[in-house]
Amino acid sequence: MAAKRICVFPGDGVGPEVVREAVAVLRTLSEVAGRRMFETEEALLGGASYDVHAVPMTPRALKLAKEADAVLLGAVGGPKWDVLPFAVRPERALLGIRKELGLFANLRPAVVFAPLIDASPLRRELVEGIDLMVVRELTGGIYFGEPRGVRMIDGVETGINTEIYTRPEIERVARVAFELARKRSRKVTSVDKANVLEATELWRKVVAEVGAKEYPDVVLSHMLVDNCAMQLIRWPRQFDVIVTTNLFGDILTDEASMITGSIGMLPSASLGGKVGLYEPIHGSAPDIAGKGVANPLATILSVAMMLKYSFDMTAEAAWIEEAVERVLADGYRTVDIYREGEGKKVGTTEMGDRVRDAVRKLSQKR
Ligand code: NAD
Repeated sequence: MAAKRICVFPGDGVGPEVVREAVAVLRTLSEVAGRRMFETEEALLGGASYDVHAVPMTPRALKLAKEADAVLLGAVGGPKWDVLPFAVRPERALLGIRKELGLFANLRPAVVFAPLIDASPLRRELVEGIDLMVVRELTGGIYFGEPRGVRMIDGVETGINTEIYTRPEIERVARVAFELARKRSRKVTSVDKANVLEATELWRKVVAEVGAKEYPDVVLSHMLVDNCAMQLIRWPRQFDVIVTTNLFGDILTDEASMITGSIGMLPSASLGGKVGLYEPIHGSAPDIAGKGVANPLATILSVAMMLKYSFDMTAEAAWIEEAVERVLADGYRTVDIYREGEGKKVGTTEMGDRVRDAVRKLSQKR
């Protein structure tokens, strides 16, 4: 089997530090398989690209991503570039690449690792066993709808944005959610505000139709977004797959991630086109960049998602997830998940090393 080509964008801040560890995990998988399973090629993205090329994403970087089998991204941005004009800000590279790769579905799992249960702001009995997945529509809705802008209307300064969804946009993201549910507990909750927003009235109708016609084996329920925000705190274990719009997903995914305790632990996948993009949910963490203390686990777990969703390598993905669980169970903690008197504080590289050791051990058991 030919090696999978992975385009790697380390990005800014802690990005290069955590990506280095994740790429090393890929090398470990090749090592235990006894053949080269992955080929990686790096390019600059975000502020790092701006500093060299005066743009946050070069045509070469985009070409590399488009021609790859998958993309691994660290994070972009930082105070250094916040003064730049909007069009060349590092974050523009993210929007650009999502659009160019046609990534319309963003998947964010919220999983609570048993050894970290007390890091959650919620009570232990509420969070124990949480394993939910939010599917957020990523390229439509109010973030892209026209008309938009701030203008004078009848002499009054007015800000306008438009929530807009077409049937095909809803159908395709609904299918992603239903397909995922089939591999999990066959339960989808579609979140909308159908009682006041017509665009999401259509959302509800179309999701229900796709479910009834194509996925009768999956149990579908609908929930208003305000109720969902409340239920995520009250009883998060009721959820398996949540599918929702761009705006609601933006907010609910942050809420869901906080339930699990640490931003340094959570991976994400963006799917839709030929090439999937995988990245930790955290940003470039400029406050700790260069100190060697960033938690690499979110990025390492993003690689596990890549193996699962882009390459169908479920066994290897499971080794990585289990390796992370073991290292945490053994008490190793980066600074973000460390609590005084509990476990051993380690830096980015040692955490990566521990995970790779555990992957090697798990692979020998197969
Ligand atoms: P952030 O996620 O970078 O940091 C928030 C807090 O979490 C900080 O205290 C940071 O030290 C900590 N943290 C984040 N990742 C960590 C890790 N792996 N290990 C340990 N601690 C970690 O969010 P922010 O501070 O709001 O944003 C910083 C920059 O990142 C901004 O320029 C923002 O635009 C950018 N950003 C980029 C992305 C992305 O590339 N996808 C996402 C969010 C923010």
